[in-house]
Amino acid sequence: MRRIKKEAVEYLDERFKISDDYVSFDQKNDIFNRASWDNQVNPREFFKSYDIANYKPKKAKGFDHWDYAFRNASWHLTDVVGEQNFDETGQVEGFTDYYTIQTSGSMEKAPLHSTQDTTARIKQAATLLGAGMVGICSLDERWIYKSKYNRKTDQSAPIDLPKHLKYVIMLIIPQDYELGKTYPTALSGAATGLGYGVGLNCANALAQFITNLGYEAIASLNDTGQSIPMAISAGLGEYGRHGLLITPKYGPNVRIAKVFTDLPLEIDQPIEFGVQAFCKICNKCADNCPPRAIPKGTPQSTPPNFSSLKGITKWTVNAEKCFKFWVGMNTDCAICIRVCPYNKDYTKWYNRLAIKLANSPLRKLMLRLDMWMKMGARKTSDLWWPIRS
Ligand code: SF4
Ligand code: SF4
Repeated sequence: MRRIKKEAVEYLDERFKISDDYVSFDQKNDIFNRASWDNQVNPREFFKSYDIANYKPKKAKGFDHWDYAFRNASWHLTDVVGEQNFDETGQVEGFTDYYTIQTSGSMEKAPLHSTQDTTARIKQAATLLGAGMVGICSLDERWIYKSKYNRKTDQSAPIDLPKHLKYVIMLIIPQDYELGKTYPTALSGAATGLGYGVGLNCANALAQFITNLGYEAIASLNDTGQSIPMAISAGLGEYGRHGLLITPKYGPNVRIAKVFTDLPLEIDQPIEFGVQAFCKICNKCADNCPPRAIPKGTPQSTPPNFSSLKGITKWTVNAEKCFKFWVGMNTDCAICIRVCPYNKDYTKWYNRLAIKLANSPLRKLMLRLDMWMKMGARKTSDLWWPIRS
């Protein structure tokens, strides 16, 4: 793994060929928000099934009452906290706007010994709060959304992130590997829900910690800005063909949370460890995506539709095709995470060895072995539950 000896802004400019016609993303065009206003994106019963009163069992394994009950429970805290102000504000905190649950902090600023010491303490606290990896980047306005979308009024409003919060603490939340093997089922949706729940707690507790120190901090999940480029800037991973962050410690099987703050911190450098070269020879995610939403070939600057960024050269998932597939299944899909050769149980030495191979000139051999051993194969949900039905 090598640290890039360049400013993150410059690195991302070069790595993704960000052009002059790049504009910040309008959150209204996010596929989940389009489900509120665009008749072309028909969510049918998708969101309703997250209320257990409305779930519809399927004959396929992983879609029975137990599976939906567990998935919905995993989302419970995130839903309750996120929607607590919805009637008043029309915002879903953590998804269309940042969290507002902090209490006021200390009037006095805690003494800071050095930026290095402050950074180490913040990273240690974040790790204890549930982050598997922590990185810090400077705020790059390009990744902040153009506006925030109000699902109640169908109106957009400017993002009101205070300008002096110029550091972003990026938090990588690992998702459960074993549960992830059962994607895509209602049961496996619990891995997603749990990831968000841990991210919610980690980001909000860390923001409260910083507030208690006398500095300002705002906790965020998917709202306010694009987490993936910020995580790349903060040295937490590389970008994969499936449009997801690939981390060196958990592969793509992660959620990302973040905290905006004015607490002076040391900035991390972006990293590279071989993902780009591996994705060029591997199409597993694209080949296994049922609606063929993941592109093959080289990165492109034109997105498949307006639910993605333009003016940036990258592999871009067709969000319309992807979400339509989710709607048809009544749960989220992460086949692209499950089959990715970087998705491994990194606690096992032989998996760490496989990743070393993937990141070396022997990457083709690793890919062949991965296919031959049927790594990433789906596990049925009855094998996950301790007593099989
Ligand atoms: S989540 Fe599923 S449908 Fe969407 S891109 Fe990944 S594999 Fe394809
Ligand atoms: S499945 Fe292969 S091509 Fe897709 S992101 Fe993972 S390594 Fe890259």
